[in-house]
Amino acid sequence: MDEKIKKTMDKLRENRMKPFFAQSREELFDIVRELVKSDKLITAGGSMTLKESGVTELLMKEFGAAYLDRSAGKTKEEVDEIMRKAFVSDSFFASANAITENGELYNVDGNGNRVSAMIFGPRQVVIVAGVNKIVKDLEEAKLRVEKIAAPKNTVRLNCETPCAKKGECMHCHAPARICCSYVTLAHQRVPDRIKVIIVNENLGY
Ligand code: SF4
Repeated sequence: MDEKIKKTMDKLRENRMKPFFAQSREELFDIVRELVKSDKLITAGGSMTLKESGVTELLMKEFGAAYLDRSAGKTKEEVDEIMRKAFVSDSFFASANAITENGELYNVDGNGNRVSAMIFGPRQVVIVAGVNKIVKDLEEAKLRVEKIAAPKNTVRLNCETPCAKKGECMHCHAPARICCSYVTLAHQRVPDRIKVIIVNENLGY
């Protein structure tokens, strides 16, 4: 494990989050299995990392009875209802837009369902993130969102925003803007409620 990852994990611990390091997909899946083995309700926020890493598929295949996937919602009302269930779930899965070497999780949301469930509600929050999400500090985290995460997400989600065309943030006021709530999770009241699994590969954006 390189120094940057080690330092980030130490700082996450200092902020009372529980870090894990997965050298491989197999290690990642074993950590996830262990964390959710007694869960009755598992939910997740929208995340490319969860898809790319195979975590979404694992939850569907092995924990299908407990896992509530929001793609099961056919209408906006149904999807909203599934999102609300995250607040009473045993585990809520998501990724982070950035993790700082100071042990902070930085996220920018459109709907806000992801950041709000990270802050309060689910018994535990499981963050899965590739090493590409680690940045030096909050300034770099903000730049990462403006130059990488948000523009790529607007393309993926077909949003009519200037960054989808320009490839970087234009600080828009478009109706489809996906940057609405800027949340930094730092020192936690409830120790180890937030688990952070850092995976030794590049995942998502
Ligand atoms: S504020 Fe607007 S232009 Fe900037 S990243 Fe967000 S959606 Fe794109």
